[in-house]
Amino acid sequence: MKVLVGWCDPTCEAKWKEVDLSYRDIPLQSWLGDHCFIKKHIDSDLIPLWIKGPLDIWHKILKQVKTERNARILRWPVYDRDFLPARMDKRFTQWSQKGITSYWKITKNNELKSFKQLQDNYNLEKCDFFRYLQLRHYYNKSIKYLEEDEAGILKILLDSSNGRPPKKTISKLYACLQTERKCNKTYIKTKWEKEAKITINEEVWLNICNSVIHMSSSGLWKEFSWKCLVRFFVTPNIKSKYCNDTEKAKCWRNSGNVSAGHFHIFWECIKIAPYWSEVIKEINTKMDLNLCCDFTVVFLGNLPRN
Ligand SMILES: [Zn+2]
Repeated sequence: MKVLVGWCDPTCEAKWKEVDLSYRDIPLQSWLGDHCFIKKHIDSDLIPLWIKGPLDIWHKILKQVKTERNARILRWPVYDRDFLPARMDKRFTQWSQKGITSYWKITKNNELKSFKQLQDNYNLEKCDFFRYLQLRHYYNKSIKYLEEDEAGILKILLDSSNGRPPKKTISKLYACLQTERKCNKTYIKTKWEKEAKITINEEVWLNICNSVIHMSSSGLWKEFSWKCLVRFFVTPNIKSKYCNDTEKAKCWRNSGNVSAGHFHIFWECIKIAPYWSEVIKEINTKMDLNLCCDFTVVFLGNLPRN
């Protein structure tokens, strides 16, 4: 995705970008609004693999987040295959040379700018007025956002096209993808509640998630802690499902449990109980605390605020 941001961003200067953009007469940025066109090229051998890669990813994103329709704003009238007048009338090529490239460039607040504005900015002539009407008609029918998306991934591409790529591009892109996939993490909470037979209210869950981030300055331990919390590790239970073999669901410490999930492996198992009581005793002595041997506090990290 970072490659796409680079294609769009006029301030991005790089050798790889020159190479990428030199492959076809039609600017790659203008392809991004037309998923059928992208699909055609992904399936053909007209472009090299390193261009197909990013395009393929973008094509999948368009499908996943249903931004297909909104992404049309990235098209350029002159190359827009659905805008018939541009295919018959060479004058639109001149428009593009004069600077009328993409739709986003000639719109404001989801409306096509007036003919007067375009005339002033791009030096259009009176005889262009009919073409303007054709364009406006098509824009209102097929390009205009049905629903504006203020923070989506498309916004990143549009900002980049305007020469304002986001700082920390990858983090921003990632955050967008997560939000648009509506990745809700409460199912993790529900699984803990079910296994440990407890209730974790929203406030406690938030505290738990926060303490994973703030517990240590060490990236390694933060990651480990996060993996424990989100149930990353493969337990006997999971293994038995993979292998379709109930034998494999037995606790690997031979504690007698025949269906060992996360709660059992990390907390409940009788073989690990002495470990926890020792650890808690040490923490309480060294830090002068009075933590009780509670799963939510000690394992999940619902630590007292102070
Ligand atoms: Zn066990």
